[in-house]
Order: sequence, then C-alpha cells, then structure tokens
Amino acid sequence: MSNDTCKWESAVHPHKCNEPVLTSFRTYAEISAPAQPHRYCILHSSRGDKDVHEFARKVEERMRAPEKIDLIDCHFPKDYDFNLCEGRTFDVPVHLSGAVFSRSSFNDAKFLKPVYFIGATFANAAFRGVTFSQGAYFIGTKFWQEADFGRAHFECEADFIGATFAQRADFSGTSFSGETSFNNVVFSTSGRFFKSTFDDVTFTSTKFERGANFEQTAFSGCADFTRTEFRGWTRFIKITKKMPWYGIFRYTLFSDNVTIQEVDLSRCSFLHSEIDKVDFRHCHFGEEKEYFLGFIPISRKNVLCDESTAKTNLDYDMTSRVYRDLVKNFDEKGDRYMAIDLFYGEMECRRKQMGRWGRSFSVHALSRQITGYGVRFARSAFFIGMLILVSCLFYRYHEGLEPGEAFNQSLFGINVLLAHVYHYSEKLSSLGIAYFCFEIVLGSFLTTSFVLILQRVFTPFK
Ligand SMILES: [Zn+2]
Repeated sequence: MSNDTCKWESAVHPHKCNEPVLTSFRTYAEISAPAQPHRYCILHSSRGDKDVHEFARKVEERMRAPEKIDLIDCHFPKDYDFNLCEGRTFDVPVHLSGAVFSRSSFNDAKFLKPVYFIGATFANAAFRGVTFSQGAYFIGTKFWQEADFGRAHFECEADFIGATFAQRADFSGTSFSGETSFNNVVFSTSGRFFKSTFDDVTFTSTKFERGANFEQTAFSGCADFTRTEFRGWTRFIKITKKMPWYGIFRYTLFSDNVTIQEVDLSRCSFLHSEIDKVDFRHCHFGEEKEYFLGFIPISRKNVLCDESTAKTNLDYDMTSRVYRDLVKNFDEKGDRYMAIDLFYGEMECRRKQMGRWGRSFSVHALSRQITGYGVRFARSAFFIGMLILVSCLFYRYHEGLEPGEAFNQSLFGINVLLAHVYHYSEKLSSLGIAYFCFEIVLGSFLTTSFVLILQRVFTPFK
C-alpha cells in the first residue's frame, strides 16, 4: 500500500475517500494501461484482481460504522462473499449509490434505516425476502441480469424511478406498503408482479418490452399506468383488493397480447388509450342508476368510470371514443350484450354534450326514452303496452265500444304494419277515426323499432 490516498470523489456529495490507493498489480501491461484505475483504493478500484479478503475486511469495517454505512461507488468483486450480507440487520442508513456489483445477494436482510442504491449497477441481484423498513431508493439503478425481489417487504417509500431491468425482474409476493414509483423504468424482458401487493403505485411512462404479469396482484389506492407501454404477453388477472383501487390507464399503450380477466374496472380510467385489442374477460365495469321517464330507477350496467367523472364536453367526447373502441372490441368477440351496453354509454356521452336543454329535449333524448338508442327492447315494449292500454280506454269510454271490441280496435292500430290488418269499427266517431289514424302512425313506429331492436340484440352488431 502506498501513502497516496484514493482519488475518488463523489459526484453528488462533497466528500473524498481517505483509503490508500492500490499498488499491487499483476503485470506491467496492467500498470501502464492508461485506463487502469490505479489511482483508487481497494473499495473504489474496478480491478477484477484486487484482494477480495482485504476488500471484505474494508467493507466490514465500514459496515460497522456507528452512524451510516458509506460504500458509495464501491466496486464489489465477483468473489466477494455475500454471506456477510445475507440475513444481516442493517440498523443505520446504508449508502450504496453508484456501487457496482458483479453479483450480489442480500437475501433476508433487514434494512431498518433508509437504503440508497441510486445509480448502482448490478449483474445479478438477489433481494429475496428483504425487509426495507424505511425508504429504499433504486433510482436509475441498472440490473443487467436477473433481479429477484420476491417476497421482499417495502414498508415505506420504494423508488425505482428510471431503473433498467435488462433481464427478468421478479417481484412475486412482494409487498409495497408505502408510496411506490416505477416511473420511467424499462423492463426489457418480463416484469413479474404475481401476488404482489401495492398501496399507491405509479408506473408512469414505464416500458414493459416483453410482457408483464399482474396475476392476483393486490392494488389498493391508486395504480397509475399513464403512458405505460405494455408490449408482449401481459396479464392482469384476478386483481384482488383490500380497499377500492383506482386504475389510471391514460395514454397507455396495449399491444395485441394483453388480457384483463376477472378484474373490477369500475374505478379504472382508459381515456386516450387504445383498448380495442385488449382481451377483456369477465371484467366488471361500473354501474349507475338512471331514471326511466324521470322517476323509475333502473340500474345501468357497464358504465365507464370516465363517464361518471366527466365534467366538460371534452371529457364526454373523449369518453365516447373509449366506448366506441370497446364496442368494436366486444363486437368482434361476439359479446353483443356487452357491446350493446357500451354502445348505450357512447350515446349517453353524446347526449350529455348537448347542454342543459338538449339533454332532456332533443331527438337524442327522445330516442333514449322510447327505444334506449335503439338497443333497449323493454322500453319499446313498454310504450307499445301503454299505447294499447290508452287506446283500449279511449275506445271503451270515449267511443263506447264493448270491452272486446275496444281491445281489438287498439290492436288493429298497433298491428297495421306487421299483420297488414286495417279495420275500424263503424261505431267510431270522427274523433275516434282521427285517434285511430294517430294510433296507426305511433303504433307503426313503436313496432318497427321493437323489431329492429330485437334484430340488433339477437344478431351481431355490424
Ligand atoms: Zn476510495
């Protein structure tokens, strides 16, 4: 060892290293090579042949420091014995930012204070079963080989902003209890979150380049997937929840191999996302109560959260586009009941853009009341029934027909198009004949729309 001290300087903190520089090199070529980091100490040197026992001794010395463990920018050689770290309890803050690990294992360790791996580089990383009691910061960290965080517990903030996972990233069974951020992360192969639990998590602008597995993942609070790119085999299956979860999938890119199955989507927003190719199976969209004729409550199914929360015309316009994509999606799969509900939603969004009066008094509003935008046959049937009833009463009490005759007369008016039956009683007054003509016009309209609705409901949408 020489008396020179290490030339390493922290890029972020104004502190230096007082360790002596390495002097022992193997060959002359290594010494004379200009790129050789012979200006650094055993901790900061990136040389592969540095004395691993001496390195471990120095690391141990720093790990026993009373206030914080400072191993910033240290290079851990391949042969370093991580048994010294596995299962270990770290009760002071750990600074490993910028550190380089040829391989690493912190399995079952406990970090009781914050731990910083900002800008660190891992070949393979094992954090299985690790407890992070306070903040864990993996900002900009690079994982070149498999990263295993299975069954780890992040009890406070977890920050993976800008991290890169070049190979498989495994977060199976991992719990994230604090605010968690995977923003701008690149998962070059699959990201596995099988049975993990999240409180609040953001995946904003994250790229899953070869799939993501969110099977039986538990989300509570907000899960923000804004601008996330899902490419490859991606599964959201049986998302469980302790509390309501709010899924934000805005501007999200879904490739054509994404399945969302048995998931409660009643609080999920899909604005500006292209979801016409997502394979939705047995998913539950929201429900809303609406009032038929202004006072009869009916439950409306498959309502998007975006419609319930929309305030401006622009919001309704954007939501109607999401509905249209979903109609196309379900129609192509042959799920016409779903497609019909979603088509109704699209029409509702258009009606709600019409302003205060247009919402209630327009052809659109009338079509909603009488035919449910041409997809609710029960409404048509109701109005046909009402017309028969009113006509019966009119012919019986105003025109004085016998009950049977009054009923037949009202059916003639309704049936004129369908059965080509056209007959009116000689006992009708001129007002009665005028009413009969009116009944023919209204009855024809109602029966035609009824038939068209049935045809639409029981045959494919297009
Ligand atoms: Zn140093």
